[in-house]
Amino acid sequence: MSGAGPRTVICLLRHDLRYHDSQVLHWAQNNADYIIPLYCFDPRQYLRTYYYGFPKTGPHRLKFLLESVKDLRQTLKKKGSNLVVRKGNPEDVVHDLITQLGTVAAVAFHEEVTKEELDVEKALQRVCAQHGVKIQTFWASTLYHRDDLPFSHISRLPDVYTQFRKAVEAQAKVRPTVQMADQLKPLAPGVEDGCIPVPEEFGQKDPLTDPRTAFPCSGGETQALMRLQHYFWDTNLVASYKETRNGLIGIDYSTKFAPWLALGCISPRYIYEQIRKYEKERTANQSTYWVIFELLWRDYFRFVALKYGTRIFLLKGLQDKEVPWKKDPKLLDAWKEGRTGVPFVDANMRELAATGFMSNRGRQNVASFLTKDLGLDWRMGAEWFEYLLVDYDVCSNYGNWLYSAGIGNDPRENRKFNMIKQGLDYDSNGDYVRLWVPEIQCVKGGEIHTLWALSNADLSEAGIALGETYPLPVVLAREWSRHIKQRPNKRDHPPRGRKDPSDTPRQHKDRGVDFYFSRNKDLS
Ligand code: FAD
Repeated sequence: MSGAGPRTVICLLRHDLRYHDSQVLHWAQNNADYIIPLYCFDPRQYLRTYYYGFPKTGPHRLKFLLESVKDLRQTLKKKGSNLVVRKGNPEDVVHDLITQLGTVAAVAFHEEVTKEELDVEKALQRVCAQHGVKIQTFWASTLYHRDDLPFSHISRLPDVYTQFRKAVEAQAKVRPTVQMADQLKPLAPGVEDGCIPVPEEFGQKDPLTDPRTAFPCSGGETQALMRLQHYFWDTNLVASYKETRNGLIGIDYSTKFAPWLALGCISPRYIYEQIRKYEKERTANQSTYWVIFELLWRDYFRFVALKYGTRIFLLKGLQDKEVPWKKDPKLLDAWKEGRTGVPFVDANMRELAATGFMSNRGRQNVASFLTKDLGLDWRMGAEWFEYLLVDYDVCSNYGNWLYSAGIGNDPRENRKFNMIKQGLDYDSNGDYVRLWVPEIQCVKGGEIHTLWALSNADLSEAGIALGETYPLPVVLAREWSRHIKQRPNKRDHPPRGRKDPSDTPRQHKDRGVDFYFSRNKDLS
């Protein structure tokens, strides 16, 4: 850095809304006299999704983001600094700040990997070059540092997760978190901190909190660290994660770290250090390892995005595969609104719309249903998730959707989830469906998953008129019939609903998802 006067560094914060383990703030602390931690509400993030035009940022994520920004401002104030907040394109805001301050030594930020974020980085480079300001970047979003990957070049990243995992576990190390100062260097004089916007400025309202939500948490680093304290140290839940992680109801079946990770309120390396500490001081078992295993999936999808660039958004996916995807808006609406007539799918889709969250088990199922049972363009699903998920992360979302659609990193051909078997395996008594699909709650037990196979008498006893009070299934996959309980005298009519063209009454011979579960324990 040049110049004789005080050195000012602008730290542009993006998906790194935290103080702990912040390489950007750490570097600035050692290299500046004044630090401007800056967050910009980029208006482009509040427009429409690329192909299907859903709102790009839904109400639950916006609320969570606003809470995270407020929390960081509080934290930085305690550190003798503040968070400067602006509404505007980061490159324009940075330009204005440099112009206002006269001299700025550097603009520092953590690197991202996907197009919109890289476009911002390019624009910042142009602005900084114009003003003769240095750019300082860091890699921080993953557990393993990009430079520590045991592959000669990112193009050599394996296309199969297990190969990636085994290589990094054997040959790479997670770097330690950086130790932050108690007090941060002050803001440059004359810089206004700026107001944190309200949802109405984005044409939104604060969403109501649904009492059934599995994610009743607020945004911000403080809450993220408290969640870890609760999940690890206060309750030891982490020690049974592997057994509970496929749950559907309540907050504690999984870590719920994802929303905070997505905004960077918690550092993956901090989680890693805490797991190692927990393993030393309490217990090390398959569950504690499995949290790391899942965090590695998150790493993997980020590196996949780095390898494939904009291909992660393309219809043909990473495999450049032609699939005759449909674009039927009625089927899409039924899926989005939880009106497909398949109770397990509908329950999950309604949970997502009402709360911004859905379990991993649910996500895998509704994604398989959209792509494999309905045959709809996978990007319809990916963009709907982009709109609604409180933990939306571009790499994890598109990576998982590509995977579910069979055009990403799944080495197996034609994997398809069986909605009925999944419902019966993970919601055997139907409690989850009853929670989210109240109009069918009078059906007792697991039979709620296959309403169309109930007798007219059972249906009317439960107050259900199929096709009127609850939809007939929009599709019937033939493998579902294997899981319908045969009850003599009860089935006084044949199964109803629109049939899959390939549907036949005979027993389906495919091994389907049974094969997946019995053979491959590696996948989440
Ligand atoms: P836990 O089960 O407690 O897992 C711990 C952490 O591991 C998570 O917080 C997450 O960071 C990581 N993780 C777990 N599973 C995966 C996975 N399959 N891929 C990547 N990371 C994983 N996750 C997101 O963070 N953002 C998304 O936008 C997103 N979209 C998804 C879309 C689809 C179609 C599917 C099938 C999965 C998606 N996931 C996404 C992955 C996963 O469902 C969520 O990370 C998880 O449900 C969040 O809950 P949790 O934090 O309690 O997870």
